[in-house]
Amino acid sequence: MAQSRREDTSDALRALPSVDRLVGSESLGALADSVGTDTVTHAARQAIDAARSAILAGTADVAPSLESLAEQVAASIDDLLGPRPRRVINAAGVIIHTNLGRAPLSRAAIEAMGNVARGYSDLEYDLGAGERGSRHAHPERLLQFLTGAEAAIVVNNNASAVLLALAAIAGGREVIVSRGEAVEIGGRFRIPDVLRQSGAMLVEVGTTNRTYAADYAEAITENTGALLRVHRSNFLVVGFTNTPDAAEIAEIAHSRGVPLLNDLGSGCMLDTAQFGLVPEPTVRDTLEREGSDIALFSGDKLLGGPQAGIALGRKDLIDKMKGHPLARAVRIDKLDLAALTATLQAYARGAALEEVPVWRMISADVATLDERALRWQEGIGGDGLRVVEAETAVGGGSLPGGTLPTRALAIEQSRANADALAARLRVSGSHPAIVGRIEDDRLLLDPRTVLPEEDDELMAAVRAALQG
Ligand SMILES: *Cc1c(COP(=O)(O)O)cnc(C)c1O
Repeated sequence: MAQSRREDTSDALRALPSVDRLVGSESLGALADSVGTDTVTHAARQAIDAARSAILAGTADVAPSLESLAEQVAASIDDLLGPRPRRVINAAGVIIHTNLGRAPLSRAAIEAMGNVARGYSDLEYDLGAGERGSRHAHPERLLQFLTGAEAAIVVNNNASAVLLALAAIAGGREVIVSRGEAVEIGGRFRIPDVLRQSGAMLVEVGTTNRTYAADYAEAITENTGALLRVHRSNFLVVGFTNTPDAAEIAEIAHSRGVPLLNDLGSGCMLDTAQFGLVPEPTVRDTLEREGSDIALFSGDKLLGGPQAGIALGRKDLIDKMKGHPLARAVRIDKLDLAALTATLQAYARGAALEEVPVWRMISADVATLDERALRWQEGIGGDGLRVVEAETAVGGGSLPGGTLPTRALAIEQSRANADALAARLRVSGSHPAIVGRIEDDRLLLDPRTVLPEEDDELMAAVRAALQG
């Protein structure tokens, strides 16, 4: 005779094991020895609670077996105690991929981080004098050398650098921004919001598509604290547009005694045009040729270093930033400082193209990428693999529309299969996760963004995923 649903439910609930019984089960006993009973008890309670909720919600009509609950517990503990963030092989063909942690670091930068992580360091100690020193002194000297700036300060990211610059230089006063540049950079970092938080008042000039130098000139009053330019890092304005010449804005600012701040976003130290990318003024050009008083940029975009924000330019303005109370709240930590210094040193030695991964990727030639894609094709084997022409994006709010020609390995499948394969590659068990990209129903894997030492792992993971 059929039971009512209520009776089924109470049978199922009764069949659930107690937390103690689950923790005491054979497979979890060994796990508790290695990770501790508290961890296993916590995960066991969660697994039983989840099973109870499923039964009560009617999405499950029987209790899971003890073995299946134990497996869930083991998996959730694996997840909790496994390395996070997990390593990912970026085959998506986006060099500065914000969701994947932006710039991979150079060997020297990784070593420098390890050095200061292991023990103590002279982070804020002057070893010669035996007294307190400044964490800014060393990167400042390098940045002066690399960009010609009078002074520099390094903070924890560029959003902070912009906030600190506005607060210290223009707090309580008006800041003039072009309507075409009062933008959202991403992750809800909106220029108007940052301005408000800094205590400065936004004065927008021009229109979304056209702003003239005269618009800035007309808006300057006694209460103007600064002019702010913002790099359009993540979009293009095309068609009927006008952006005034940078030097012209600087001239207006200086003739009226107002500083010009320039949020470059990426901040490039090398000539991008030599690789066929959109020409971008270098940080040095921004100061010397374009006349910005302060340039602000990220450490982990085109610079190719760790998360950091760099502000440099006129000494009197940088001194205001250094002395502002917010400077302490946004200061850079010792590990990032070590990695940033090592990255800047690669530029100082003229070795950035060879040593900084972002620039190795940008400067990799297509013939070499073609060879690697062919090697992947052979190494993986099987049908449906082809080397195709594709584009790598610079990405990360760096050069909008900036792409480089590449050769990618295409795995031809139906659309549903391509999605399923991409998903398997992202969670491929014992292999590192691989992120590719789907284009025209094919999964594309771009060697330009894969570090050469990752090639073997990539091939093994793709082989496994194609069989799975
Ligand atoms: C990326 C970007 C920022 C934010 O920099 P973070 O280092 O991510 O804080 C600010 N302004 C512009 C123009 C950017 O492109």
